[in-house]
Amino acid sequence: MSAISCHNIIKRYGETQVVHAFDLDVADNEFVVFLGPSGCGKSTILRMLAGLEDISGGDLHIGGRRVNDLPPQERGIAMVFQNYALYPHMTVRDNIAFGLKRLKVPKAEIDSRIKEVSDTLGLERYLQRKPAELSGGQQQRVAIARAMIKTPKVFLFDEPLSNLDAKLRNHMRIEIAKLHQTLKTTTVYVTHDQHEAMTLADRIVLLRDGRIEQVGSPKEIFERP
Ligand code: ADP
Ligand code: ADP
Repeated sequence: MSAISCHNIIKRYGETQVVHAFDLDVADNEFVVFLGPSGCGKSTILRMLAGLEDISGGDLHIGGRRVNDLPPQERGIAMVFQNYALYPHMTVRDNIAFGLKRLKVPKAEIDSRIKEVSDTLGLERYLQRKPAELSGGQQQRVAIARAMIKTPKVFLFDEPLSNLDAKLRNHMRIEIAKLHQTLKTTTVYVTHDQHEAMTLADRIVLLRDGRIEQVGSPKEIFERP
């Protein structure tokens, strides 16, 4: 059984169709990257997986369940956004804990999970700060911690490194790769950066104008004979 199964998924905005018959199966533990130029539909497909955008047609299964009509919090996913999307008035600790508090997880368990993820991501020293007091890279680590703490079946990343400078981008890319080696959580990762796609992906889905142009390993996509 696939972790994610997209069958004939379509997206229309009014009269305009922006995603055409999207078919894809993502295996358990796989790291799939959607790669393509701005406007090709990467974010729209990711947002449909997340439940942030209605699906106009087709079937979407996550973890074997049809999720077309399920809200985001019932899909077993956690998403990391390009702009981090942290709550500015909350401390780092409260940002990370937010999802678990809403699920009424006991405080002792929340505390031990916060310790675990902040250790992993090097955030122990920043837990009492507000997001605005952190660098972009640190804010993105908080966003990843907030996703990790939910132990989702699937991670969704929407251009998570695009707002970072080149050095931090490199650093965070390596951290995300390591994180995947450790957790092995099934991941769909959107980027327009070929280098990110090549170095992170088990499989790349090359998109153009709302259609799949090619699917394959980084080798198959970039080392054409
Ligand atoms: P990408 O993530 O690859 O940059 P998007 O998924 O954001 O592409 O957009 C795909 C296409 O859908 C683009 O042509 C974009 O203009 C269009 N689009 C995205 N969101 C909307 C919307 N809310 N209403 C109308 N068109 C949209
Ligand atoms: P990103 O660069 O992160 O893909 P975009 O600028 O493509 O961001 O989109 C930002 C927001 O605007 C998204 O919520 C997207 O759905 C919406 N959007 C994008 N294109 C259009 C469009 N042509 N009409 C209306 N909304 C759009």
